[in-house]
Amino acid sequence: LSASRTLWDLLARRAALTPDGPVLLQDDRVLTFGGLHDRAERVAAGLYGMGVRPGTVVAWQLPTRLETAVLSFALARLGAVQSPVIPFYRDREVGFALRESRAEFFAVPGVQRGFDHGEMARRLGAKGVFEAYDDLPEGDPRVLPAPPAEGTSVRWIYWTSGTTSDPKGVLHTDRSLIAGGSCLAHALRPTAEDVGSIAFPYAHIGGPDYTVMLLLYGFPAVLFEQFALPGALEDYRRHGVTMAGGSTAFYSMFLAEQRARPGAPLIPSLRLLAGGGAPKPPELYHAVVREMGVRLTHGYGMTEVPMITMGAPDDTDENLATTEGRPPAGMEIRIAGDGEIRLRGEAVCRGYLDPAQTAAAFDADGFLRTGDLGRLTASGHLVLTGRLKDVIIRKGENISAKEIEDLLAAHPAVGDVAVIGLPDAERGERVCAVIEQPAGAGALTLAAVTSYLRAAGLAPHKVPEQVEVVDALPRNDTLRKVLKYKLRERYAEGG
Ligand code: ATP
Ligand code: MG
Repeated sequence: LSASRTLWDLLARRAALTPDGPVLLQDDRVLTFGGLHDRAERVAAGLYGMGVRPGTVVAWQLPTRLETAVLSFALARLGAVQSPVIPFYRDREVGFALRESRAEFFAVPGVQRGFDHGEMARRLGAKGVFEAYDDLPEGDPRVLPAPPAEGTSVRWIYWTSGTTSDPKGVLHTDRSLIAGGSCLAHALRPTAEDVGSIAFPYAHIGGPDYTVMLLLYGFPAVLFEQFALPGALEDYRRHGVTMAGGSTAFYSMFLAEQRARPGAPLIPSLRLLAGGGAPKPPELYHAVVREMGVRLTHGYGMTEVPMITMGAPDDTDENLATTEGRPPAGMEIRIAGDGEIRLRGEAVCRGYLDPAQTAAAFDADGFLRTGDLGRLTASGHLVLTGRLKDVIIRKGENISAKEIEDLLAAHPAVGDVAVIGLPDAERGERVCAVIEQPAGAGALTLAAVTSYLRAAGLAPHKVPEQVEVVDALPRNDTLRKVLKYKLRERYAEGG
């Protein structure tokens, strides 16, 4: 199956093999491989009737639901170019994504938790806005043209977190996503008896990556539209989940629940906690393994290459605690002279929307420059040592310090500002703004900063949880650049 040319090809083969096997479970609803295939085909016909053709750019900002997976496969069936947008993104990111991708259609969920996505889309000038929550457009599949014949065209535009500058539109093909899913499976080694879970936004690059793994091995995953413990434990138990996970924040959440119920296993069926995308303290690794009695594997990935390395469940505790694991077959890792990690392989993206960014991103040998620093141990395990750029990872979401700094700098009571991430047991990192005020400015409070940034359209998860006002930011002598590491040291313990 991993030789499938396209995602549709892969789904069609899996649906022929085990049509009645479940693929996605949500609340009391079950979608089978055959059901996903057949419904996606009808929805493809509905979209075709709306004017979606092979190559048409369709953006979607939809929650993690069965219908979202159906819509995504319908677009794959048509050979459209799809651009998933994270559900909690607001005007700034959504407007940027719509403009840059030149999307001709935009699927929204309607009103969600009191927020009107349709209103936002129209205000931002989105074209072809349609709702895709419970009801999806459907039609007669006989009208459809043949499915795409090859998987090497660009059919996906994903958005990076925008850590260093504006987000970059990352171009993926069906083949690069199939390779990414194979990489994930290489690390997790699932069987048809496993039950996985997708507790992160399906609009993440991890969405199709995980789904490819389900198609390759023929097992299901539980979807969570609003993930929260302890409520989600009910779903894990009911569906007999064997593999749970998400970002580092998930491990601490599970551990806290386990500590509240000592003695009995939290989820009796669980064999593996798996995640990645953010730093993982070794102490957390050891505490999870000891107190929960499950294996934990953690990995390194990016929008450009969803799975780069991941710990294997049967590796040593030492390696699993202190490294990001080894690369799967087909992933070439090179450490450049300056320590930068560079990558080549089928799972690497084709480049960026902006050709100039693409040209700058690949070195002479065709390796992608990751912007991350690392080293390989004698046994070939990757250790991450830092980033060339400045990023805060809060609950698994990468947040650009620069974006928040740029907004705050425009505030009249702000002279200069440095936004940093501080270690936080619950969130992984929390966002802290350290503000230098001009003489005579009225003192800024956390509440004032919060309402100012919200009014400026900043997504709620990026709004600082801590504000510190200082007379002078620490700076270096030569370029007068703010020394963020000093601020991190100063505020790390105090909280
Ligand atoms: P941009 O590319 O727009 O500047 P970004 O790189 O933060 O934003 P993402 O693709 O969401 O956008 O994040 C990928 C980055 O997350 C990696 O390049 C790396 O810096 C970080 N990361 C991923 N996995 C880990 C991990 N296991 N430990 C530490 N950091 C990680
Ligand atoms: Mg990046």
